[in-house]
Amino acid sequence: MTTVGFIGLGIMGGPMAGHLVDAGHEVTGYDLGPDALARLADAGGKTAGSVAEAVTAADVVITMLPNHPHVEEVVLGADGVLANAREGLLLIDMSTIRPESSLAITEAGKAKGVRVLDAPVSGGEAGAKQAALSIMVGGEAADFAAAKPLFDQVGKTVVHVGPHGAGQVVKAANQLVVGGTYALVAEAIVLLEASGVDAKTGLDVLAGGLAASRILDLKRASMVDRQFAPGFWIDLHHKDMGIALAAARQADVSLPVTGLVAQLVAAARAMGHGGLDHSALLKVTEALSGR
Ligand code: NAD
Repeated sequence: MTTVGFIGLGIMGGPMAGHLVDAGHEVTGYDLGPDALARLADAGGKTAGSVAEAVTAADVVITMLPNHPHVEEVVLGADGVLANAREGLLLIDMSTIRPESSLAITEAGKAKGVRVLDAPVSGGEAGAKQAALSIMVGGEAADFAAAKPLFDQVGKTVVHVGPHGAGQVVKAANQLVVGGTYALVAEAIVLLEASGVDAKTGLDVLAGGLAASRILDLKRASMVDRQFAPGFWIDLHHKDMGIALAAARQADVSLPVTGLVAQLVAAARAMGHGGLDHSALLKVTEALSGR
């Protein structure tokens, strides 16, 4: 049994914290939202009124927050995780943030004797609910080994991908492939429909050939039907494309297609679709063709 402080109990963190409760860990959660706290209490977890309260007794603290400013505030803030950490605490940030922010948090942790892992996830809300996430972990091998039993309770594919920050780099690579795939599936739909070919039938064939992908498997029907309930919001994907481009700048590489996809996601947001599922990139592709 591990004493876990869990901060950020939203779409992803809520079900993840619930699985840890189910596995018999003592989980104390904190979130700004009262509904999120109530859901954890219903699931059998303890709730805290502050970051400090969630952290002081914890052996492991997990953060699952929207973006780097939230993680930096919660971890580095005056009454944050590091200020209240027990000696030897293991901090696992499972949010998707910039690799350079992860590295800064790791360094600040080291100065306080806190071990840090970056462990972003893929698999979406369904993956979180079914404890079937893919988890890409950066950090020390010994810390990964210590955290592995917890990861196994929320994920199916759990991989130590390299040193600190590597988890976030792998997640950035994941998000650029996901964004690019949505953009091209959207273009396939627009081409098929504009040419008078039934898009569902056409995409069924694609899904059986070399163009097959998980996105085609899971989303082709809803995209053709223009069902864009999230899922994963355009707003979050916009953040993640920014992370991918920042990582590219840091690594001194040129990713032109990622740049283009980032602009398409930005357009979707500018058109007011930030709260729709990222498959709503189709709306941008349609607009570009006057459809
Ligand atoms: P969410 O907005 O549903 O949850 C974030 C939670 O953090 C909210 O409940 C919010 O109240 C809380 N929060 C924000 N600031 C806080 C603070 N200072 N103190 C305490 N709580 C605070 O977001 P989500 O969808 O759960 O995403 C979390 C992270 O996981 C993001 O980095 C996202 O990119 C990543 N992610 C999301 C998905 C997905 O499908 N939703 C998939 C993979 C990865």
